[in-house]
Amino acid sequence: AAAVAEVAWDGRGRTSDGHPVPVLANVGSPADARAAVENGAEGVGLFRTEFCFLDARTEPSEATQREAYRAVLEPLAGLPVVVRTLDAGADKPLPFLSMGDEPNPALGVRGLRVAFDRPELLDRQLSAIAGAAADTGARVSVMAPMVATAAEARWFAERARAAGLERVGVMVETPAAALAGPALVRAVDFVSVGTNDLAQYTFAADRLSGALAELNDPWQPALLRLVAELARAGQEHGVPVGVCGEAAADPRLAGVLAGAGVSSLSMSAAALAPVGSALAGHTREAFGRAARAALAADSPQGARDAAARELTAGE
Ligand code: PEP
Ligand code: MG
Repeated sequence: AAAVAEVAWDGRGRTSDGHPVPVLANVGSPADARAAVENGAEGVGLFRTEFCFLDARTEPSEATQREAYRAVLEPLAGLPVVVRTLDAGADKPLPFLSMGDEPNPALGVRGLRVAFDRPELLDRQLSAIAGAAADTGARVSVMAPMVATAAEARWFAERARAAGLERVGVMVETPAAALAGPALVRAVDFVSVGTNDLAQYTFAADRLSGALAELNDPWQPALLRLVAELARAGQEHGVPVGVCGEAAADPRLAGVLAGAGVSSLSMSAAALAPVGSALAGHTREAFGRAARAALAADSPQGARDAAARELTAGE
């Protein structure tokens, strides 16, 4: 417990020496957007658009989509918001995007992969997002889920820019995308690591399996190494690398991620204040030492202990 200093959060994510690490919210509905603002989010790092249409049996028209996105963006006027294009498949099936029977849905046609066969579906969504952005004062960026290669990232960025969206990113949720490092970050304006799926695919362990929960622990050193390596590629090329998976919501891990070079953290609204105050508890340099110690560990518990030791030693 000593590693998480209890410092009052003033609503701006930053280390005790003033290095900014914006704390952003994950949202999927207008109620989430209001909760994000009430809890002091500096913006939204992940708007899960598929949550707007979980019951839709047919593709929502562009006008219907625009209205649904507008309702979420409205409370966020003035704030930066990252809208993720539809992430259907595996744990989040969408009836109107049925992929048919796949033996391994988590390894199947999901996320951005759906759009390779049906690009007009993606284009309609991008156009609805651009419309909703224009209808509200939110500063909208878009990103694609389940990207595996730099070529896929380029393909998405081109279509998003053609739709009038100026800031384009991709999620890093596959080991291949994380290892694509420099080529991947050069293809986009920002990247956001989805640690839930990145853990699942790195450890070949279903994220919903209770029996495999330890492999999906966000403190797994192999996962942290992938994130740190990518963050370094981002820093070298001036491309922000954020984290929007569950890892970002763990106050003890937040500083470690910041110390590894992660530029922003996005989480559920309830985690904003605990993460914000944990970031304010130590300097960036101390978090950097904690990150190096955690990366060198050989188990999640070892990483937790090593990071905690560094931070208490530095007090
Ligand atoms: C993730 O995979 O970490 C992520 C943020 O996306 P989702 O949980 O929606 O798959
Ligand atoms: Mg994911």
